[in-house]
Amino acid sequence: MTRAGFSLAKVSSPAANEAIYLDHHATTPVDTRVANIVFDMMVSSFGNANSVDHVFGETAAAIVADAKGRVAELVGSEPDNVFFTSGSTEAIRLAISHAIGPTRASPLRIALTRVEHQALIDTARLAERLGLAVVTWIDVDDRARLVSESLHAALESGTDLVCVMAANNEVGTIYPLGEIVPLVHRHDAAILVDATQAAGRIAFDAFGADIDYLILSGHKIYGPKGIGALVSGVYEASRVYGLGATHDATPNVPGIAGMGEACRIMLSEGGDETRRIAHMRDRLQTNLTRQIQDLVVNGDQENRLAHNLHISVPDTPNDLIISRLRKKVAISTGAACMSGAQSSSHVLRAMSMEDGLQEGALRIGLGRFTSETDIENAAAEIIEAVRDVQNAMAGKEYE
Ligand code: PLP
Repeated sequence: MTRAGFSLAKVSSPAANEAIYLDHHATTPVDTRVANIVFDMMVSSFGNANSVDHVFGETAAAIVADAKGRVAELVGSEPDNVFFTSGSTEAIRLAISHAIGPTRASPLRIALTRVEHQALIDTARLAERLGLAVVTWIDVDDRARLVSESLHAALESGTDLVCVMAANNEVGTIYPLGEIVPLVHRHDAAILVDATQAAGRIAFDAFGADIDYLILSGHKIYGPKGIGALVSGVYEASRVYGLGATHDATPNVPGIAGMGEACRIMLSEGGDETRRIAHMRDRLQTNLTRQIQDLVVNGDQENRLAHNLHISVPDTPNDLIISRLRKKVAISTGAACMSGAQSSSHVLRAMSMEDGLQEGALRIGLGRFTSETDIENAAAEIIEAVRDVQNAMAGKEYE
């Protein structure tokens, strides 16, 4: 796929002769069906959805309305509850600013799990520094599962907003929202669910409509970057702390249309896709476990995202493994925001993982266009890279 001479006909899934992409928690390639729609919205149906005096604006407005329907359907909510943002980070900030409200007599009491995404943790901490919130932490166990007593203690001590992600972006653990959402409401608190990694990959229909603030992002579901949504039945732009929300601005119609299409595809194909990917992930896990001595599989193996495989090669620096794989297999040491940051993952620390396992932690994320061949080739490359690093560490000569 070249930049010059770009044409829709040439848009294809990642080329087979490039490095194998196994970092789908960081971002996903845009599905060609989505790209086609985005392209069309840019060059043909380019109207401003806020200028509905003519057919151009009307078409754009209809497309935005349709996309709201698709997003709502994916997460079991209503179209009127969908507010588009530039992504999950902005949606998280908007939700917390709304929970704080325009004026407050006392700080918002927020309880959040220790494994939330840095975007949420940073927002909550900032609110605390500004005197707008007080933060309580909910503990997780060694598989990143919620410690039930910790959640109960937070609720019983008085909490206004509980933040529990739908699934973790590093180790893939899925949280039992079907139980957590009603529990939080019984304590008269609101719940914010960061569904960035889980939307389209787990079913939300049983509880989606009950979630006060649900967050998702286009680029994690084969849609464009720079588009996401806050899905909320309680959100009102006039009740946001600060100088108001951005969604009255000219909507990002191409992005919104792309996100709508990405949700449509996830809805119609997500079930089969999840099964296919889980099967490949399991094969990769078996292969690596057999070939790499003392390999540890992290997270909750009974309840994790199908495309997630998080492993630790004990006492083997993950940055050395990754650097050997750099041009061959794209995997990561953790969350996107951690890359290159040279600090350990707050998720792995919250799981009380021992240092040697944190040091050798690798996150592998499969996706829609991952093939069986990719998995075989990636396994061989990862095994070789690990051996290479271990031999080098043992002082042996290596080619
Ligand atoms: N929440 C989770 C769980 C994520 O994985 C990410 C991205 O990695 C974000 C939030 C931030 O999403 P965005 O890039 O759309 O701002």
